[in-house]
Parts: sequence; structure tokens; C-alpha cells
Amino acid sequence: MKAAVFENIETMVVRDVPIPACEDDGILVRVEACGICGSDIRNFHGGLRHGVKSQIMGHEIAGTVEAAGKHVRRFKVGDHVAIAPDVSCGECWYCRRGLVNLCLDHKMLGTDWPGGFAQYVYGPGVVLARGMVHRMPDGLGFEEATLSEPAASVIACQEYNRVEAGETVAVIGDGPIGCLHVEVARARGASTIIMIGLTRLKLVPAFGPDAVIDAGAQDPVEQVRKLTGGLGADIAICANPVAKTQAQAVELVRKRGRVVLFGGVSKQNPMTTLNSNTIHYNEISVVGAFSYTGPGHEKALRFIHEGKISARKYISGTVPLGRIAEGIALAEKGEALKVLVTPWAE
Ligand SMILES: [Zn+2]
Ligand SMILES: [Zn+2]
Repeated sequence: MKAAVFENIETMVVRDVPIPACEDDGILVRVEACGICGSDIRNFHGGLRHGVKSQIMGHEIAGTVEAAGKHVRRFKVGDHVAIAPDVSCGECWYCRRGLVNLCLDHKMLGTDWPGGFAQYVYGPGVVLARGMVHRMPDGLGFEEATLSEPAASVIACQEYNRVEAGETVAVIGDGPIGCLHVEVARARGASTIIMIGLTRLKLVPAFGPDAVIDAGAQDPVEQVRKLTGGLGADIAICANPVAKTQAQAVELVRKRGRVVLFGGVSKQNPMTTLNSNTIHYNEISVVGAFSYTGPGHEKALRFIHEGKISARKYISGTVPLGRIAEGIALAEKGEALKVLVTPWAE
């Protein structure tokens, strides 16, 4: 089969590799589409976790079950499945409490096992048991289903941080994750959603924010105050990889407001400076949010199927495997939202 193998930093080679063997407890999936994620782009430039090399990346996967081992009950040949990458250990302090996203021995498809930038991906037994493989709702397209992985983390974040009906939500970052936050906040009943962006402002209105602030031309803090009668937003979600904007988030929420650090920033430069007096006197909560649990991934598939998340609108383009480098370049240019790899296209 054809696969795009991450050989080393900034070196991705498309070549023939053996089709993985399907064991008794695993499934082999024919990959129909696999999203290029912001983390794939970061890893392409910065390397995979633990210095892993010669690995097939890609973790926003949708495809068809091609073979199922004889011990597999949950899936059969021909099923359409969406696969998210996280696999928890099932035994650590966090896993025993259901907090599998915080697992101490967390592993990922695309890092610890070969991922979806290939014509087939193999889900071994441990991935089926403790990972995130879910049957797609009938009628949902493969390309749309790849959005379930990023959507799951957005849904989990807003549940954990209790984004509620009537709230004013400021979303910082106009990439696909920011747009997902806008749609999910709307689905949860937020009344005013303010998007603060920079590079993709033209694409953002399609996702229905009530106001869009151009951070390149306007002061986001001033604008959010203006839009909220001077009060500030109830919650600000930082959905971009820029530490500096986290400082703005603290300034643009109301007293007792919440700031959620959702987007990872560069591993080389993760430090940020927040005004601790603002946090102290205004009783602001600053929290992190990362990943999701299995039911979150299933819920994301439902949200997409029900149209609460308009998956189609995120897909700026698809590239065949042989042009994956072009796809990565397109995804990071800041003009596209989601770029997918379709491994069987020429
Ligand atoms: Zn992803
Ligand atoms: Zn664990």
C-alpha cells in the first residue's frame, strides 16, 4: 500500500509499505479520508513525541472496515468507522477515574502506531478496547466524519468549562478549532459569540459568530468591552497557538470570568505572561483543556450528522497521498481551514 512516512523532521516520504496484517482482535481499515491536524503540522516541523521517526502520521481518520479479526464483536467488514488517535492505559490513577484524556501512559495512533496517512490503517485490539474507534452514523460522509476528532475535543472543552445558555463567549483564533468553538457554543445556547481572528476573517462569518474582531486592526480587549456594555465576556477560549493572546484573554473577560487555554503553543516557547493582579482582583479562573473521552468522540459524530457542526464548510481542499506536502503547506498558510488527505485518489 501507499503511505506517507514521516522519516525525520520536515521529511515525509511517500512509498510502498506492506499492508498491516489483521490479527484476531484487531481491524484493518481502508482509509477514505484523513484530516491534516495542526498538531501534524507542528510535529512535521518539530518532530514526534519521544523522538519517534519513520512513522506514518495522521489521526483524523474515516474509512471502511476491510477485515475484522475473529474475536472482534463490535465491528464487521464493510462498517464505516471514524477513528480518533488517543489510547489510554486503562490502569493509571486517571484512567481508573474515567479521566482517560489525562492518562499517565497515553499513546496515539500516528505516533505509537502507524496512522492514517496511508491507504490502510490497522487498529490493534488495544486500540479497539481503549482507543476511539466508532461506527459512523448512517449517511454521514467520510470526509465530514474526519472532523469528529477535532470536534470531540471542542465539545469536551465546553462541557468541562460549562459554556451555558445565555453566555457571552469570546473565541480567540480563527482556525478550524476556533470555528468549531463558535458552532459548539451556539449549539449549547450561548447568546453572544465573538470571534477574534487575524488570518482567516473572511471564512469565519459562515460559522455564525455574532461579531468578528480583526486583531490586526482593532484592539480585541477594547472591542469585547464595547460589545458587552463594558462588562467583558463570560468566558474566553484561546484556540490558537499564540501565547501572547492568552494575556489578552485575561483582560477581556468579566470579573469571575473564565479563560480556557485550549490551543497548544510551540514546544520551544511555551511561556506566557498573564497579569496576576487582574486574575486576583477579578477572581478570574484560568484553566487548561485537552482532548476528550470516548463518548465525546461519539457525540461529535452525532453533532456533525445533525448539522450542529457544518463539517463540509471546514473542508478547504483534499490532496492525494503523493501531494501531502502540498496539503501541509496549504493547511499552514492560514488561508485554508481543513485540508484532507484522500489516499486512494490519484
Ligand atoms: Zn487532530
Ligand atoms: Zn491511564
